[in-house]
Amino acid sequence: MYYVWVCPKCKSHSQITYITRADQKTTGCQNCKKRIDIRKIRILGSFDDRNDAVTLRSALHAQVTGPLGSIESGEIFKEIIKENMEKNEKQMNAPKVPKKASPDKIIENIIKKNGKTSLDQIVKCCMEEGIEKEKTVQMISKMLYAGIIYEPSKKVYDIVK
Ligand SMILES: [Zn+2]
Repeated sequence: MYYVWVCPKCKSHSQITYITRADQKTTGCQNCKKRIDIRKIRILGSFDDRNDAVTLRSALHAQVTGPLGSIESGEIFKEIIKENMEKNEKQMNAPKVPKKASPDKIIENIIKKNGKTSLDQIVKCCMEEGIEKEKTVQMISKMLYAGIIYEPSKKVYDIVK
């Protein structure tokens, strides 16, 4: 777990410490080098992901050095932490990978875009979408059978209107 905290001694240096052991008792300030009792530090955020900890620390630094900066005013940090947590939550709820169009939709779109399209052209476009030739050919047969496309001339396909 990554903890973002501010040194109680020098108070101007927020830092990230990675604590794995539950029995770890002290940590060192990267700025004033003081050994600090972990139980006494004010944890401003704890994160599984280091990037999230870095985001919060960057926000803290901006606050600390900015005109509103006051390390004593916990309100600022509460706001930042809240914002950060909400952001994390949103990211976690968001779908990780955008849903990919199914192969038949991809083929349909290729033919719609090009008009009468040769098999080679369809295969080439499908390859660019990560669909293997075999799969494309199979899908074309299915679409022919389903009456979605037809074959106006040999190995040339068009959408059934
Ligand atoms: Zn310090």
